Amino acid sequence: MTFTCRQCGSCCMYLGDYIIIDHQIGPFEFVCESVSTGTQFTAHIDEDKREIFCDRTFPEEHPHACRFLRPEGNLLRCTIHIDSPAQCKFYRCVIMRISDPVGNHRGSVTGTLNLHSEDTVLRTIWESAEKNIPESLPDVEERRKVYLTEHGYRVN
Ligand code: SF4
Ligand code: SF4
Repeated sequence: MTFTCRQCGSCCMYLGDYIIIDHQIGPFEFVCESVSTGTQFTAHIDEDKREIFCDRTFPEEHPHACRFLRPEGNLLRCTIHIDSPAQCKFYRCVIMRISDPVGNHRGSVTGTLNLHSEDTVLRTIWESAEKNIPESLPDVEERRKVYLTEHGYRVN
């Protein structure tokens, strides 16, 4: 499935301790560190997000959120989209959406291959997939999609 980020911002809400600003080097430029990878990077606030970045209400009210996250309408937006670290750019919160044969949503799978579902039958099938398709195999994501499809679920 093609992942489309809905810009809900929930994955960035508690990353304030992981994407940190070391020091400011210009009006909209910061030397930062990605703590989980131990890498430094320079972040320029995207030109079209400078206005929302200057409003400090959100970071003051949400001290654990990434310092670059800001609300815009109904969205929560990354204000350094161009310079954000690779792990942010490639993050996918959901890699599979699972439904029954008539299209009722039954669960979803995160980028860490964890199933979120109340469907006990689906959970059992997923557990058997975990045993039968180890993560070390190539194309494990695709193999699990096929496995679920063979057990009557739709995956997209
Ligand atoms: S990756 Fe997922 S959780 Fe993060 S902002 Fe996009 S839709 Fe929301
Ligand atoms: S840099 Fe952007 S994408 Fe990464 S955690 Fe911060 S707001 Fe989210």
